[in-house]
Amino acid sequence: MNALAATSRNFKQAAKLLGLDSKLEKSLLIPFREIKVECTIPKDDGTLASYVGFRVQHDNARGPMKGGIRYHHEVEPDEVNALAQLMTWKTAVANIPYGGAKGGIGCSPGDLSISELERLTRVFTQKIHDLIGIHTDVPAPDMGTNGQTMAWILDEYSKFHGYSPAVVTGKPVDLGGSLGRDAATGRGVLFATEALLAEHGKTIAGQRFVIQGFGNVGSWAAQLITEAGGKVIAISDVTGAVKNVNGLDIAKLMKHSAENRGIMGFEGGDAVDSNSLLTEECDVLIPAALGGVINKDNADDIKAKYIIEAANHPTDPEADEILAKKGVLILPDILANSGGVTVSYFEWVQNIQGFMWDEEKVNRELKTYMTRAFRDTKEMCSSHHCDLRMGAFTLGVNRVARATVLRGWEA
Ligand code: GLU
Repeated sequence: MNALAATSRNFKQAAKLLGLDSKLEKSLLIPFREIKVECTIPKDDGTLASYVGFRVQHDNARGPMKGGIRYHHEVEPDEVNALAQLMTWKTAVANIPYGGAKGGIGCSPGDLSISELERLTRVFTQKIHDLIGIHTDVPAPDMGTNGQTMAWILDEYSKFHGYSPAVVTGKPVDLGGSLGRDAATGRGVLFATEALLAEHGKTIAGQRFVIQGFGNVGSWAAQLITEAGGKVIAISDVTGAVKNVNGLDIAKLMKHSAENRGIMGFEGGDAVDSNSLLTEECDVLIPAALGGVINKDNADDIKAKYIIEAANHPTDPEADEILAKKGVLILPDILANSGGVTVSYFEWVQNIQGFMWDEEKVNRELKTYMTRAFRDTKEMCSSHHCDLRMGAFTLGVNRVARATVLRGWEA
């Protein structure tokens, strides 16, 4: 199912459970603003290349719109729209004072040189600089972008508006980035998983994990889960998949991946087919890459007891239904991966305060926020007799709906 159709379906189901007024429901679904811009740059060889960039600003009832910028060849309007909508519910689940947005450029970042990426990022920023800002819309990294991308956006934005570090989060620490931001999504995944397992009398130690994706989120999650005593038995990335039932040596895998631009060829395990990774025998499955990977074609073959959605919308609604029948518990994206945007919020607060927190404080506060979001979600599950996905959706949608009504409709 298309990402926008899937996200909107979940939203509508939550609106129904909450008994939302149909006009309010409609207004919450339609994005605040959709931006599409043409970005042409000279390539290193002197030829021109044109790309299309997007920024969808979904909702600002609870505060400035917030969300990442993705560089990926599959970036297209419906997907950006769906991801922007998910950010609105995610910031509300985390109870941080933001709305939701998402952006992206349809490109293959791996095929562009550093200077081409810099030019592309600067042109994109020139086209959207009037529509983002500290109190309007605050971008951050996502798939295919990183701290360096944010540094270029900050620099380009500052040429028009003066030096404004809080206009982006996920910056390098030297430019006002927060300690702990790099690991934050993976660390949040760890805290959320701990909270879920604790409900069932379990801990990370002793569980077998399979992780799809070895980018920022997957690699940090693997590292932190291993430190907590969990056994990561299989991992995949775009280059391949590797398995070791005795547990992969994550530190060695990180080194191999950095030196070889991927996990392919790692000798500390057996190469396995990436397509069958999701259906490997394990206790906890963590999709940490693209959307829509768990769908009606593979859901029935999944053997994990728990799925922790570190990626955004990895599970199709049809797969949700199949997995529910099998008794698989799913910790939804808008809760499970909210650690990244939560520490983005801490970074923004530190920039505005002009005061830097130590890493221990960042991680401590992150644990408090993740644990609270899990507890609030469970309360919605009890009051609305629903699963964790609907618990998180009703929690987020209800908070946004309340803020919208309180702010009123006067023109
Ligand atoms: N891209 C991340 C996400 O999908 C982080 C967004 C942010 O920090 O604004 O949640």
